[in-house]
Amino acid sequence: MKINFAELNLKELTHIITEELSEKKFRAGQIFKWIHKCGVFEFDKMSDIPKKLRDELSGKYELSLPEIIEKSISEDKMTEKFAYSLKDGEIIEAVKIYDDETLGKYTVCVSTQVGCPIKCAFCQTGKMGFVRNLKTSEIIGQVLKIAAESETGFENLSNVVYMGMGEPLLNYDNVIKSIRLINAEDGLNISMRKITVSTSGVIPGIAKLANEKIPVTLAISLHAPFDSLRAKLVPLNKKYNIEKVIKAAADYIKITSRRVTFEYVMLKDYNDSLEHAKKLAELLRGLICHVNLIPLNQSDIDGNFAPSLNKKIIEFRDYLTDKNINATIRRSKGLDINAACGMLYKKIKSGDSQSL
Ligand code: SAH
Ligand code: SF4
Repeated sequence: MKINFAELNLKELTHIITEELSEKKFRAGQIFKWIHKCGVFEFDKMSDIPKKLRDELSGKYELSLPEIIEKSISEDKMTEKFAYSLKDGEIIEAVKIYDDETLGKYTVCVSTQVGCPIKCAFCQTGKMGFVRNLKTSEIIGQVLKIAAESETGFENLSNVVYMGMGEPLLNYDNVIKSIRLINAEDGLNISMRKITVSTSGVIPGIAKLANEKIPVTLAISLHAPFDSLRAKLVPLNKKYNIEKVIKAAADYIKITSRRVTFEYVMLKDYNDSLEHAKKLAELLRGLICHVNLIPLNQSDIDGNFAPSLNKKIIEFRDYLTDKNINATIRRSKGLDINAACGMLYKKIKSGDSQSL
């Protein structure tokens, strides 16, 4: 199988250029920039590379990224959802969210797996089951392809959030490699602080990430302050309960000095009472953290849950704020195109872009 250049960091690329092709080291830097800074994904279009080397590269290596097969734009034009096909016919999605109406800056939300093995009760991706982990090139490729087709270009990419399909910390190595590529100075050059990894509470992954020396923002999907309820919503709680999750968060904060975000999806009559808010405040007491309250995004095929009433969400937030816990309500974007949190869902191997 040919080596895919989109999988490689600069060091690996340099090794191939100097050792396998006996070319000068700077050629690796040129190629890396073409891919990660200029959005050029064909060797033959890398105009400062001599024709002979371009031909050799095209013959011996691959430069393969996911293909955008569909783009949906929300009515307010602030959110765009992209579907990509992968080499084996699987389909994944990423979302581009404009940060601001005037400046053109945007955040990209990427997927890390085809489907997800965690199967949270309210999440559409979970309903797909788990198919496979994404490769590094398939993760970074979602960002590169969006940046390349953007009118506002690579410079306006402001943040990358690992909140699409899948559980990032169950695809640890590929996720970390993609983060380092997104952060690369000769590439997208996004600061680690502007990269968020969201996890349902994979404790070994959180512990590993804490020691990775990359100050990304960690978001933990908590959703409930009682184990019995959380186990129903996030089945992984049976393995890693709330106590363990909070301990892992505290360790993460201690090691990285970074503030952790707790995500809490607001489900009507399930987890939105003042009793829940009280217990949550007790759990988070003393932690440097932020709580993100997410009104449930409801999709057509989900009958069990409803979003909490606005009044309840505000009361919940105010309770936490009164207890000196930083809490905000997340405004959902892209609902009309099913691009909001937990709504990314693709029929496995359907190959039918109409069903998006
Ligand atoms: N698997 C990771 C990251 C992807 S999900 C995780 O669970 O953290 C990103 C966020 O969207 C999570 O906090 C998740 O709980 C939330 N989410 C899932 N389904 C949702 C829905 N229907 N409405 C609102 N948020 C949802
Ligand atoms: Fe997986 Fe996250 Fe959805 Fe849970 S919420 S099923 S962990 S993608």
